[in-house]
Amino acid sequence: MKMIPVTKPFLPPKAEYDKYLEGIWERNWLTNNGPLVGELESSLKEYLGLPYLSYLGNGTVALQLAIKALELKGEIITTPFSYVATTSSIVWEGCKPVFVDIDPDTFNIDPTKIEASITPKTSAILATHCFGNPCEVEVIDAIAQKHNLKVIYDAAHCFGTLYKGQTIFNWGDISTTSFHATKLFHTIEGGAIFAKDEELNKKIAWMRNFGHHGPEKFYGVGINGKNSEVHAAMGLVNLKHIEGILAARKRQSYFYDSYLDSTSIRKPKVSESTGFNYAYYPVVFNSSEEMMKVKAALEEQEIYPRRYFHPSLSSLNYVENIPTPISDEVASKILCLPIYHDLSESDQQRVCGIILKQLDS
Ligand SMILES: *Cc1c(COP(=O)(O)O)cnc(C)c1O
Repeated sequence: MKMIPVTKPFLPPKAEYDKYLEGIWERNWLTNNGPLVGELESSLKEYLGLPYLSYLGNGTVALQLAIKALELKGEIITTPFSYVATTSSIVWEGCKPVFVDIDPDTFNIDPTKIEASITPKTSAILATHCFGNPCEVEVIDAIAQKHNLKVIYDAAHCFGTLYKGQTIFNWGDISTTSFHATKLFHTIEGGAIFAKDEELNKKIAWMRNFGHHGPEKFYGVGINGKNSEVHAAMGLVNLKHIEGILAARKRQSYFYDSYLDSTSIRKPKVSESTGFNYAYYPVVFNSSEEMMKVKAALEEQEIYPRRYFHPSLSSLNYVENIPTPISDEVASKILCLPIYHDLSESDQQRVCGIILKQLDS
């Protein structure tokens, strides 16, 4: 029986990567803002059409740097439905996460509930574009302007997603992303920050490099947020394959749709302004019992969907457990089905066949 994981890292033809390794060996320059890091940053800026980008060690340090660079204090309004790094970064930086429940249709923070949670201590909103599906960015922007709050978007799922024809990384004072091996575009480990203005971009550049201002002077407190030449090389090679990766995800999503759209299973609603990247295939079942039944049946056949995201982050043992019933409910009934660049139609058919047999209705 063939094991089907929820995702599989994309690996380019090895010869393409080897070519970059030869250059690295010749230069004997492995890290500290090397030429391939510079080349990856330029290539990504060009691909995304963005002026400012800092390539970093991972998507978590990107979130931590974003909070640090914006000098956030006190309370940060955030979503309970995301990967744990969204919340842990807030706590790690000494701020308090204040959870606002999600929209039941998009699984993103519900902007109509944000204002009720703003207090004099609120400094920012940190929201995730969950599964690559953009938040209501204009509404969130207006609330932030009105209350003088900063906005950070955790856009870890968003490589390739467009909003009104432009990259979603455009939004917020800062957008962050992850280039972890499991993400649609990856550099093995890696991440990036997209800053709104030049000033902020410069600050992040020295903050990620220990605060250095030349070899013996310092601008201020910094951290090691850098990434290496071997990681940047993987990014440069993978970027050449990005159109194929995106096309495969879209084709596979439509293929799942053709089996599952006519059932009682629900999918997140994506707005018409979105050019979607189809990075994940999340499905919400009618009940937690039904979801568990489907999961067990799939696992019996060595197919491993994942409960992204469970548990709801408001139930973590290091935060105030603010009630978020909609997030809790979605978290209890959701599964992400397998989707990755070389998942075959016959494997998808197997997955769907097992699911259809288990559905209550
Ligand atoms: C993957 C992910 C992160 C963390 O990124 P790393 O590169 O693994 O540190 C943060 N937020 C979300 C929503 C993620 O999915």
